[in-house]
Amino acid sequence: MSAVFEKDIKERLTVDMTKLSKRLHRQVGQAIVDFNMIEEGDKVMVCVSGGKDSYALLDILTNLRQRAPISFELIAVNLDQKQPGFPEHVLPEYLRSREVPFHIESQDTYSIVKRIIPEGKTMCSLCSRLRRGILYRVAGELGATKIALGHHRDDMIQTLLMNMFFGGKMKGMPPKLMSDDGKNIVIRPLAYVAETDLEKWAAHREFPIIPCTLCGNQENLQRVQIKQMLREWDRKFPNRIDNMLNAMGNVVPSHLMDRNLFPFAGLRATGVADSNGDRAFDDDDDCGPAAGASAALPVPIRLSRDA
Ligand code: SF4
Repeated sequence: MSAVFEKDIKERLTVDMTKLSKRLHRQVGQAIVDFNMIEEGDKVMVCVSGGKDSYALLDILTNLRQRAPISFELIAVNLDQKQPGFPEHVLPEYLRSREVPFHIESQDTYSIVKRIIPEGKTMCSLCSRLRRGILYRVAGELGATKIALGHHRDDMIQTLLMNMFFGGKMKGMPPKLMSDDGKNIVIRPLAYVAETDLEKWAAHREFPIIPCTLCGNQENLQRVQIKQMLREWDRKFPNRIDNMLNAMGNVVPSHLMDRNLFPFAGLRATGVADSNGDRAFDDDDDCGPAAGASAALPVPIRLSRDA
């Protein structure tokens, strides 16, 4: 490879990473503002598993904190679940190098899961439930006012589709919620971030990744298939996933079928014209490109993935 070509590639990579960095920080900042995730004086417990998503979350929040107009604290928490081969030293070394306050909680949930779940069955569901309970408790002990998780845009869409396909519910993964014990506010600042961007960021920042499959368990097969389908869509129709995410924030209860969300039973004609009302017998413009238009024309979206 010639020196000029090599220099060219390096410069292009630097430009790409600068753009990626700007996009990630902007999207996280936007999600925080849109959902009022972090407020003055908050102590945010960032759950760090050793995977790319939680490393990226901590990394971005650490950077944003330094230039935020409000003051808040961050504390990284890792739950050492005692899976065989878990490299205990990796996270503490990394967190010390970043000068991030941290707490490692050691609880042998691995043995509990192994004891309860029959051989060959998926352990992730029980494992996550146990992890959640422990993290809620730790948040209380540390005085954390928010718990930040590393779920991203693609996790949120996958969950929505999983619930539609297998649960018969239009229920996704919210960017902010109250925990089921009623004591914690959980936030997902990566809600607008694409997983592919997190992969690139993790490689660029050389996070010391610890695989979650140390225990030998695999992700739910259906989730894996949905993930693959979304990856394929993202490759073929670059705006589709962002449009789906926007749709989650743009719900029209009168055009769905939930009788608890819209009073269909009591619906009466008012005699007053409504330009936003249902045209009933016409094709809905929102259903796709007009006849003759290119199928590739994107519907305008609120989220931009360009830097
Ligand atoms: S892969 Fe193992 S450690 Fe990860 S969630 Fe599943 S059971 Fe738990």
